[in-house]
Amino acid sequence: MFEIPKLSYEYTALEPHIDAKTMEIHHGKHHQAYVTNLNNAVKGTAAENMSLMEILGSISKLTPAIRNNGGGHYNHSLFWTIMGPNAGGEPTGALNDAIVSTFGSFTAFKEQFASAGATRFGSGWAWLIVHDNKLVITSTPNQDNPLMDIAEVKGTPILGLDVWEHAYYLHYQNRRPDYIGAFWNVVNWTKVSELFAEATK
Ligand code: MN
Repeated sequence: MFEIPKLSYEYTALEPHIDAKTMEIHHGKHHQAYVTNLNNAVKGTAAENMSLMEILGSISKLTPAIRNNGGGHYNHSLFWTIMGPNAGGEPTGALNDAIVSTFGSFTAFKEQFASAGATRFGSGWAWLIVHDNKLVITSTPNQDNPLMDIAEVKGTPILGLDVWEHAYYLHYQNRRPDYIGAFWNVVNWTKVSELFAEATK
């Protein structure tokens, strides 16, 4: 059985950038629903004894319900860990070096990532991924992600941004770009750096 991960911080911890009510509903209701629906969807199927990574890697052979809810579970589990209180700022070390050499500057990286999130039509995610030891910015629709065998651009996610309206509408209404701008204040670059090191070793 898949389970919703506990947050390492309070629902209030990301304020004022992400409000407590949004966090409470997003984690406690939306993510919980993906987990509940995933557990129901895998019952009696080939996915019943697969790990989440195995499910994502063979998603083309599985049902739409497993794709939507398995993706939703993975994406949100990552999302909670790459944010935190007393965060934001800029990355350091090897990750900073890779961002500067790939995108030109941290500012240019942020612009490209924000654009990927802002221009994703409807619901989806913006991603910073590692593919063949290189950083790539991409986005996916719905609850798809770059680990899925059906993804147009594949790789290992190290930073993900949920641009579904449920992630920002209570506080930002239709102003998705404002939400994306505020997101930079809560990015846990220490965690993203760990994921980068893991994906490039
Ligand atoms: Mn979400």
